[in-house]
Amino acid sequence: MDPILEVSDLHIRYRKVEAVHGASLRVGAGQIVTVIGPNGAGKSTLLNAVMGALPAYGSASGRVSYLGQDMAGIPVEGRVARGMCLVPEKRELFASMSVEDNLVLGAFRRKRAGDKRFLDQMDVVYDLFPRLRERARQEAGTLSGGERQMLALGRALMAKPQLLMLDEPSLGLAPLIVREIFHIIDRLRETGVATLLIEQNARAALQVADYGYVIETGEVVMAGPAAALAGDPKVIETYLGLARRAA
Ligand code: ATP
Repeated sequence: MDPILEVSDLHIRYRKVEAVHGASLRVGAGQIVTVIGPNGAGKSTLLNAVMGALPAYGSASGRVSYLGQDMAGIPVEGRVARGMCLVPEKRELFASMSVEDNLVLGAFRRKRAGDKRFLDQMDVVYDLFPRLRERARQEAGTLSGGERQMLALGRALMAKPQLLMLDEPSLGLAPLIVREIFHIIDRLRETGVATLLIEQNARAALQVADYGYVIETGEVVMAGPAAALAGDPKVIETYLGLARRAA
């Protein structure tokens, strides 16, 4: 089957510094693919380049192919219109608007495109996140960290993306909440969306993913089925740590 996303030999530079050195990866239809690695390895940079959202002084070479089409020269807006969606680390919600209004905004492009059923995803989102339904009228700025992450995910799903890219969804969340978020990411498979998940929490990411890549200082150093990576001695040593060995 053709992949949804195929990245080949991607080099990314910020002015004189090359942050990513020839990364290649694939995301198949309905798959959850994770990229794990330490701070500063180039994970967010990679996602931003796929989205076409590098800062003006950044540049990329190599190929990003999405749904069989080369994305070179296609701006962020065009990629969003084709069904890519990035949930950034900073979540970027509208704090003074209600949960429900934030969700409605997620469907904005579908509404503008004349899709009369632009709100039909609301029930799907509320079924995935019952807590958001309970808090529909609450201001987004008053949500807990975990709820904010749920809202960011829910808002992304309102756009009915084909490729969802998540930048560190577990960042700053307590372990129980992380488990809840990852349970939901797992359930996203049911919606048919393909997910590219960037994570420092390697344990949670490899548990939920089908396939994984390890990136270190801008280079993909390992790749394989997530279960195989989770059992690899080097991954265990470097990313899964003592807790895993003790378990
Ligand atoms: P983290 O988990 O800490 O966000 P990461 O793996 O996502 O790490 P990146 O944020 O992609 O890593 O950073 C990769 C390298 O690129 C780092 O050396 C970083 O300093 C550099 N970098 C990232 N963003 C920029 C930027 N906007 N301008 C200049 N350099 C940048």
